[in-house]
Amino acid sequence: MSQHDDHVQHTWTLTNADGDEISIDLWIDGYSVRVDGGPDDGHEDERGRDVIEQELLPKYTAAGYQLTRHHPVNAPESHEEPADDEEPEGADQKPDQCPQCASTDFEYEPNLTRGWREGPAWMCAGPSCSWGQWIVV
Ligand SMILES: [Zn+2]
Repeated sequence: MSQHDDHVQHTWTLTNADGDEISIDLWIDGYSVRVDGGPDDGHEDERGRDVIEQELLPKYTAAGYQLTRHHPVNAPESHEEPADDEEPEGADQKPDQCPQCASTDFEYEPNLTRGWREGPAWMCAGPSCSWGQWIVV
């Protein structure tokens, strides 16, 4: 049980009255299944959680094994961008200091309209200052 388990998403462990242990790993790819121990030692499957919950677990419990624990190991593979990065577009163009009032506070304005021009901008948040700078996207 000291093997590297970066690839494992979820592990089920079953034991029988003799103390024999079966561990079933579902890999983070969501379909690779590997059985360690028991009658199917070394068995590999590619039908994911379904084959574990509908086939392997009932089969082993029928053979006298008991599910002693199961726990998630690693998060499933995900190709989504992390959502904790909420910086608006153009955050790297945020001015350091307002050239008119020397304020260092700026507010993101998603659609600043002045005359013919409109678009996202950084607006000075200084009191009674209306300086703003459009973000070049
Ligand atoms: Zn200002």
